[in-house]
Amino acid sequence: MTTDACKLTIAQAQHLLRSRELSATELTRACLDRISAVEPRLNAFITICHEQALAQARDAERRLAQGDAPALCGIPLAIKDIYATRGVRTTCASKILENFVPPYDATVIARLRAEGAVFLGKANLDEFAMGSSTENSAFGPTRNPCDLQRVAGGSSGGSAAAVAADECLGALGTDTGGSIREPAAFCGVVGIKPTYSRVSRFGIIAYASSLDQVGPFAKTVRDAAILLRSLAGADPADSTCSTRPVPDYERALNGEVKGLRIGVPKEYFVEGMQPEVEGAVRAALRHYESMGATTVEVSLPHTDYAIAAYYLIATAEASANLERYDGIRYGLRVEADNLTDLYRRSRGRGFGAEVKRRIMLGTFALSTGYYDAYYLKAQKVRTLIKRDFDQAFARCDLIVTPTAPTTAFRLGEKMSDPLQMYLSDIFTISVNLAGLPGMALPCGYDRQGMPIGLQLIGPAFGEETVLRAGDAYERSGAVTRRPTVV
Ligand code: GLN
Repeated sequence: MTTDACKLTIAQAQHLLRSRELSATELTRACLDRISAVEPRLNAFITICHEQALAQARDAERRLAQGDAPALCGIPLAIKDIYATRGVRTTCASKILENFVPPYDATVIARLRAEGAVFLGKANLDEFAMGSSTENSAFGPTRNPCDLQRVAGGSSGGSAAAVAADECLGALGTDTGGSIREPAAFCGVVGIKPTYSRVSRFGIIAYASSLDQVGPFAKTVRDAAILLRSLAGADPADSTCSTRPVPDYERALNGEVKGLRIGVPKEYFVEGMQPEVEGAVRAALRHYESMGATTVEVSLPHTDYAIAAYYLIATAEASANLERYDGIRYGLRVEADNLTDLYRRSRGRGFGAEVKRRIMLGTFALSTGYYDAYYLKAQKVRTLIKRDFDQAFARCDLIVTPTAPTTAFRLGEKMSDPLQMYLSDIFTISVNLAGLPGMALPCGYDRQGMPIGLQLIGPAFGEETVLRAGDAYERSGAVTRRPTVV
């Protein structure tokens, strides 16, 4: 039992911990043993916190023994290495922050800590969350636990792979243009990006502030609902965070989709899409119909412009956010005779190629004379994309699409062609531009056995509908999760 404990869902573990059939230490040890066994092949973690995790588990055990057990007490999690963790190195997968140890916790980390969650370590990602494959990490790529020659997706590839490989029971990621949903789809797990502003971002290293959002990875939709409830809610330290009350998401999971109107955007079944992906998504839609939902074709006519708008807005905001890494306040400093050279050398040595590309693109888009033509125009397109969704949601309760046009690609396959890499986000980025909640969950496998992800998109603050529909699908047994190869 205990060696397999890492395979438990959070809901199962909660039950066993509370009934004292399993101790928090046994559970944490099972995860740490699993991590030791598979990490040499996966590289899902940048930092592993053996000692701290066991200490947290002992504390959790005491609380459980006293009957003081909040939802995540004793639950071992992986944390994307973009969250500030007090006393634990936080690199953002960049050389520039290689030795940065934050003196404080991100708000969500503090909340989980207060609940008694156990932090197993910091998960790998694309440097500064820029990428779709985790190949842009300064600490080497994460491999897909379903096929070690393939990418885990990105930018939260380490978090997704860690959950898929049962190194942890759940994980935290961030999603600016698809970074939770695409790796969840590639690794065959559940990942939800909540509505923009649903979760505090205080203490999360900023990439593109008008798009970034925090969210969980899990083995089941129910677990994602449990995690999200602990993460969401107002934060005085983040003025962009909503004060709307947080529903009990788990309670919304009643298995019912009867009468649910599902919108299917015609623009999301594009040429060049892997036929098995389209097949699996269409089969899932039929499955929903058999459970009593209805489907209706909707149109999101500005979809074609989403990638261009996103890569202008995200890079513009990134170029401003990344100005702070100047060799003075944080991280790497390469000494020089004068200040300009110090900046130049520190940033030149500290940032990887993709980050430099984004900073250059963003600086160009914001520069005098180009601002109106690029950044301002992109903002206008963003408004049109948001309006498309508003119009679609007048006719449906939920939108269902593929998460990515293909299953996980091979390591190295898209590294020399940034545009091809950017196109992996074609179905996810509009959701960020519109600020909506989106969830990926497994809906099948391709002929090579690689997982295919379904994407459920809700209206703003429609997380309950998204989770309820995802859970109903999962519970109906439409897809069974297959074991990984590690
Ligand atoms: N792949 C997208 C990008 O590179 C999205 C990344 C993300 O969501 N952080 O910007």
